[in-house]
Amino acid sequence: MTEPSDTTADLLIMNASIIDGTGSPRFDGAVAIKGEKISAVLNSQQTDFPQSLNTQIANSKSVFDAKGLVLSPGFIDAHTHDDRLLLSDPLMMPKLSQGVTSVIAGNCGISLAPMTSAFTSGVIAPLNLLDESGEWFQFKDFQSYIQALRARPAALNCALLVGHTTLRVLAMKDLNLEASELEIELMREHVTEALQAGAIGVSTGLYYEPAVAASAKEVMEICRPLSHYGGVYCTHMRDEADGILQSLDESFLIGREINVPVIISHLKIVGVNNYGKSPQALAHIEAHQSRQEICFDCYPYPASSTILSHDRAVTASRVIVTWSKPLPEMAGMDLSHIAQKLQLSEQDSIKRLVPAGAIYFRMDEGDVQNILSHPQVMIGSDGLPHDQFPHPRLWGSFTKVLGHYSRGLGLFPLESAVRKMTSTTAKNFRLKGRGEIREGYYADLTLFDPEKVDSSSSYENPISRSIGIHGVWVNGVLAYQDGQATGQCAGQVLSH
Ligand SMILES: [Zn+2]
Repeated sequence: MTEPSDTTADLLIMNASIIDGTGSPRFDGAVAIKGEKISAVLNSQQTDFPQSLNTQIANSKSVFDAKGLVLSPGFIDAHTHDDRLLLSDPLMMPKLSQGVTSVIAGNCGISLAPMTSAFTSGVIAPLNLLDESGEWFQFKDFQSYIQALRARPAALNCALLVGHTTLRVLAMKDLNLEASELEIELMREHVTEALQAGAIGVSTGLYYEPAVAASAKEVMEICRPLSHYGGVYCTHMRDEADGILQSLDESFLIGREINVPVIISHLKIVGVNNYGKSPQALAHIEAHQSRQEICFDCYPYPASSTILSHDRAVTASRVIVTWSKPLPEMAGMDLSHIAQKLQLSEQDSIKRLVPAGAIYFRMDEGDVQNILSHPQVMIGSDGLPHDQFPHPRLWGSFTKVLGHYSRGLGLFPLESAVRKMTSTTAKNFRLKGRGEIREGYYADLTLFDPEKVDSSSSYENPISRSIGIHGVWVNGVLAYQDGQATGQCAGQVLSH
């Protein structure tokens, strides 16, 4: 009996069709995992392949036969609101079941930390998308939030942004005003604390009421520490409809002034008058990329989802209510149907329903496909995990891109689809050692059936596990297999 030597792998996944995340064509081969990292990648086209495979088989503690399946890097969800889910439901099934192994949380200006307010008269929207009760807003600084995540890890990795709207609610007396110098100073100190604790950037949601009064100058002054710590600036822009080009300019200006990369969240063009304008928006981004770093994510649906309000409802061709505090039984119903039931106008029905959330159909499918097809796009779900009847993007964004858009419509090859959800995202968010199948990289891996993989969530039945995901490994640990979480929680908090 010999003790396993240092070169012994814990697991060998063999007979896989490997899509490495870079966009390169797939190849047949095997991947060896030791501890939390990939220790070898074998390509069957290499001349010494049979010999190295035999050595790896002999030296591996266990062997997994992946015949007929694709092995890719685990998917990275570029845009989430999973801040609380990571703690309240650490198995993270909506994401794990799609093959996601890392999430970027704290988007759209709303992060769970830091917050100390008691919220005596209800949690201010849109912070209530994270937690309507207010109980989870319990971390006075970012350090204590990250400590809680490390003390009880989730099944997948997370990287965290600190939200400008959260900071405004925390630091400001009157949200209808621009921040005073003193308030800016206080918010900037919180940003520094968050970045020192491990946050990877700041997000804004200038579209939402509590941040509308903030000027570009306010945002720049608060975000100044980003460049020193290598952080990124992510933004849910002020206007995604008629004023989209001006909002892009505002975002670029903020990034240039403080010398940090700009990430445009869920790039879309809203409103029937703007249908078909995605080429202009994309050209505008491309025209500025020679001057500064700019990237963007997108979710693969022509409907958005956020809090319910009359202003938003009037811009949509159809509205589905996703949750309502006073009338929870209405979740999942169309607003037009609810209005009939209540015998009220839609506007008066909304008054009865709020606080509430909704899905809004107000984009053009052609624009969605055009943005998804762009070589630089990242896939982000923007899923809202605490909605009673969520937008189907929560459970289906990644597998819909693989199944419907890549295999079904043939919009782009599977290799490109995987790149949009792996290496592109890791590079843009500066997640080292993630997003590719490469020796020395972390063993975040997803195994799926390329002929079957697809989303099964829909507007009618949104909570549904994807089809064709056979296995998900996070930091070398099997987290999901054949439709079930294994219960293993090896997720890490990722920082620069
Ligand atoms: Zn958003």
